[in-house]
Amino acid sequence: MNNDLDPLIQLAVSLGASKAHIISSDKIVVEDQLAQKCIEPQCENYGQSFSCPPHVEGPAFFRELTKSHPRALIIQLVIPALMLLSWERLGVGKVLHELVANVELEARKMGYARSSGFAGGSCKELFCQDHLSCRRVEENGPCRHPDLARPSMSGYGIDVFQLIKSCGWKTNFNHEEGLPAEDQLSWVAGLVMLG
Ligand code: SF4
Repeated sequence: MNNDLDPLIQLAVSLGASKAHIISSDKIVVEDQLAQKCIEPQCENYGQSFSCPPHVEGPAFFRELTKSHPRALIIQLVIPALMLLSWERLGVGKVLHELVANVELEARKMGYARSSGFAGGSCKELFCQDHLSCRRVEENGPCRHPDLARPSMSGYGIDVFQLIKSCGWKTNFNHEEGLPAEDQLSWVAGLVMLG
């Protein structure tokens, strides 16, 4: 059914995605209360970049986006769980943002000119950690990394667990009791709205 989008799936996998899949956008669950979690308790990344609240448009905007963008490409990266508990999580975040940004740019080239990608985590700590502030927030200037940084799904209230379930993928990889920490797996996800 989605043969025209197969090149995007192949691109995502070639760039490091463990899985990539196209779903109908009406399967994306958006909850105001999930976006509220960025504020209460306040995330340390709140307000730090143009990709996080209060600088992103939020759940109402995303609900409208699903109407104009009928399909979405979902990406899951399965990784050792310990990576997310160490500084290696920054490397994982960079891969995720770059992956989503590349798929978005390719989708645009394929004619889905209004495609837009969403990742996870703050681009301030991933790409601009050596700068005092986000250039877009502080100076209303251009983003330093427009080909890499994408907004975080959290600020839009996107239910990421539901997203993964909608693809028929696992959200828990550690069923075996007593599995050593170094053998446990976790995941991160991103999405590209295709329109
Ligand atoms: S300038 Fe840096 S912190 Fe600001 S949006 Fe771009 S990548 Fe993110």
